[in-house]
Amino acid sequence: MADNALTARQKSIAEAASYAARGDQTGLKQALIQGLDAGITVNEFKEILIQAYAYCGFPHSLNALNTLMQTEEKRGNKDPQGPLPGPKPEGTSLEYGTQNQTSLIGSPVSGKLYEFAPAIDEYLKSHLFGDIFARNNIDWQTRELATIAMLASLDGTESQLNSHIQIGKHNGLTDNQVAEILQIAGRTGAQNVLFGKGSENTAFARYFIGTSYLQPLTQQGVGISNVTFEPKCRNNWHIHHKGGQILLVVSGRGWYQEWGKPAQELHPGDVVNIPAEVKHWHGAAKDSWFTHIAVAVPAEGFFNEWLEAVTDEEYNKLK
Ligand code: MN
Repeated sequence: MADNALTARQKSIAEAASYAARGDQTGLKQALIQGLDAGITVNEFKEILIQAYAYCGFPHSLNALNTLMQTEEKRGNKDPQGPLPGPKPEGTSLEYGTQNQTSLIGSPVSGKLYEFAPAIDEYLKSHLFGDIFARNNIDWQTRELATIAMLASLDGTESQLNSHIQIGKHNGLTDNQVAEILQIAGRTGAQNVLFGKGSENTAFARYFIGTSYLQPLTQQGVGISNVTFEPKCRNNWHIHHKGGQILLVVSGRGWYQEWGKPAQELHPGDVVNIPAEVKHWHGAAKDSWFTHIAVAVPAEGFFNEWLEAVTDEEYNKLK
């Protein structure tokens, strides 16, 4: 583990923020229990889950706070409450929110979009960076850590995620810490698996780099399995002879590559038709867990031929 990796407390906050953003109450409950055991106070978690509404909406925030409340009740309401925020600063929310936004980012924020819709600029400044960021019982670095974890768990928010990675670094998060937050956010997605993770895929481990998990779903007429890859995990180059294979991507981010062709990035909802006799590999991206359903297209005399591994040199070229 690198020197500047996340502490146990930071990991629990990233996990809780990510599960809250995904609306996964089961995962959130586990992350909260782990965090409370690691010494995070109830009020610290409240702050993270209140802040969640600015990034994920009131419904996700309310459901997450309800999970925290129920978890606390089950634990007998014995966990330390921790400090509440101090009094609000002097001036209006818009005034100190503008100051907060400027010092968080390192320079004043303006742009065409904010001229186009000035109300959103005012709400961002007065409400998010004013009312919420002025609550000082958790520091800004922790708020940014949670924000990065939330944005990395949502779809279509890459531009905001990239901005907040910069803001997080401006507030002292290291490259390694940011990478770990992104990894945590990838993992919370893969654990929210519809068909179950199954058990460690030991039978085929020698044809994989990294750890994968196999959940057989059916063998009635057609073989269908759910396969989960940890980050960086991929199978060796291989060929499905006689019958091809169909991959249905369930969660996370991954790759599929045919011999002699560029690798293709995969996201949930993607369908890959792999013809018989085509040499290929599939697996996770370096920073994300990845799950696909694999359908073996039935064919007389079907068999798999396992070939050489996908080397780190080839794999590391992928983003
Ligand atoms: Mn295959």
